[in-house]
Amino acid sequence: MTRSWSAYQGIYVHIPFCVHKCAYCDFASYQIYNDHIMADYTRRLVEEIRQWQPDLPIRTDATVYFGGGTPSVLPMGLLARIVDALKERGFWNCPAEATLEANPGTVDLEWLRACHQLGFDRLSLGIQSFQPAELAAMGRIHTADEAKEAIALARQAGFTRISGDLIYGYPGQTVDSVRDSLQQLLQTGVDHVSVYGLTVEEGTLVHAQLEKGQATLPSEEAAGAMYGLLMDELPKAGYARYEISNFARPGQESRHNQIYWHYDPYMAFGAAACRFNGKRRETNARSLVAYLKGEVPEREELTPEIRREELVFMSLRTSKGLSLTEFQERTGEDFFHIYKEGWEHCQKRGWIRQKGDRIALTSLGMQYGNLAFEEFL
Ligand code: SF4
Repeated sequence: MTRSWSAYQGIYVHIPFCVHKCAYCDFASYQIYNDHIMADYTRRLVEEIRQWQPDLPIRTDATVYFGGGTPSVLPMGLLARIVDALKERGFWNCPAEATLEANPGTVDLEWLRACHQLGFDRLSLGIQSFQPAELAAMGRIHTADEAKEAIALARQAGFTRISGDLIYGYPGQTVDSVRDSLQQLLQTGVDHVSVYGLTVEEGTLVHAQLEKGQATLPSEEAAGAMYGLLMDELPKAGYARYEISNFARPGQESRHNQIYWHYDPYMAFGAAACRFNGKRRETNARSLVAYLKGEVPEREELTPEIRREELVFMSLRTSKGLSLTEFQERTGEDFFHIYKEGWEHCQKRGWIRQKGDRIALTSLGMQYGNLAFEEFL
């Protein structure tokens, strides 16, 4: 059966508040907030959700993902209002998955139970490290013990699907400290792990610290060894790599994130939220003030060439890679005809392989990610 690419496959809701801005964070998140601002934000979010016609093409099992920021700072009453608005407008029917991002420093059993009762069935916890000095340097608001406790409380509340994030390549980290953090995370029994190499973004605290010589990045060799360690140890522990940065036990892959990598349409609400209908991208105002004022989203009409490129590099992020038949169906083009040179360059370097109808990056190709993607631009 040909898959429909016009229906929205997932719904994203952005909650842009955090208790404290982490030193490395460049996301649309604000440390300055209070009950009043959160209530205003929820009002505007509900208004935005209700602006959409109820007859939009949405899959009945469209996934739901509340990300941030820190959705777990939102009082339950406000969270429930957003969920109600999504249900009322047909965005939340029988989701194949409903994920909530949370910070281990902001959850308690009562809140987690209420979330589970609302219908969330997956929790994604930003943990980043289990080393006290690293957590302090990153500006995280939780301790290593609180991260473990959050996982235990989530289980008690009924969550069976829990993901944990780790960062590597952070100033002060060593191969041994990353190994220890990974072991501690695996001991909690989470079924999904995301690992992110630090990207130093201008405007972040860690960027300023590095500029002033107050912090030093691990050497390239050490960062490479951290990467190698994670790539070796996670599969050994039963977590298959299904995307450049994501590992899961069988059947525990994030269904929502796969929508992005499969280049399927998704709806999104909230400040800085970005939606895609298969042909056009719309991004809401990033600034909280502008979003609250109802500033018109930025629209980007995507040409067939841009869509083709994005389809290729989003698909190549995944271990499954790109189906050549789907590429033909979605673009009307033959992959090898369009990307002959890029394909040959990547193949010569051992970055890409073909297996039947699919082409995918090798683990070496994934290591060189961006360089490999550039071959298809
Ligand atoms: S908790 Fe997450 S979104 Fe908030 S500041 Fe830290 S990294 Fe950024």
